Amino acid sequence: MFYTDFDIHFFNKIESSLHQVFESFFFEIRNLGQFPFDKDFFSKGVKKEHKEMRKINDKLLTHPTNKFYQTLIDVRTREKLGIIILLTDLPIYSSSDNTVVFMFGETHLKHRCCIVSTLKLKEEFYDRPRDEKLFEQRVIKELIHEIGHILIGYIHCNENSCVMNFSENVEEIDIKLYSLCEECKSKLNNIREKLNF
Ligand SMILES: [Zn+2]
Ligand SMILES: [Zn+2]
Repeated sequence: MFYTDFDIHFFNKIESSLHQVFESFFFEIRNLGQFPFDKDFFSKGVKKEHKEMRKINDKLLTHPTNKFYQTLIDVRTREKLGIIILLTDLPIYSSSDNTVVFMFGETHLKHRCCIVSTLKLKEEFYDRPRDEKLFEQRVIKELIHEIGHILIGYIHCNENSCVMNFSENVEEIDIKLYSLCEECKSKLNNIREKLNF
């Protein structure tokens, strides 16, 4: 599901990357369209935060992750989905961990929901020229990462090139590959064997 401008070709790229990394895990990957919201939604729970590497009075309104979760849980239940992911260009902060502001993404393991914020994945955020290819690569890596949490658990991988490594900044995302390391792959295979498919 999306809360951002988004191009259908990009959805196709996301879909094939997910099938590649999590082969046979997903029966179907669906585009659920735009996230439904009411008028009050935008102002609910917002916090003003300083934008990184910008002049001191330049602030952005950030949104708590929990206000997205209820809608995601409702849609996931109604549509009988295994996992639901929201891709948004809004800045987000974690509702469960107040030390984290401006995060790339968060996963609600119990409810099998993920949120990925694209804002800080754009080169323009850092006052650098737009780079669509790099942006798409970062989004796809972060989507794989959050889905990885749902499938293999909350622990981050220590391998720098593994998509399950925790990224503090975009440079660390850029080092990561699209794929899981051997150890994470074997965790995925264990689940596959356990579920017998
Ligand atoms: Zn993570
Ligand atoms: Zn790994």
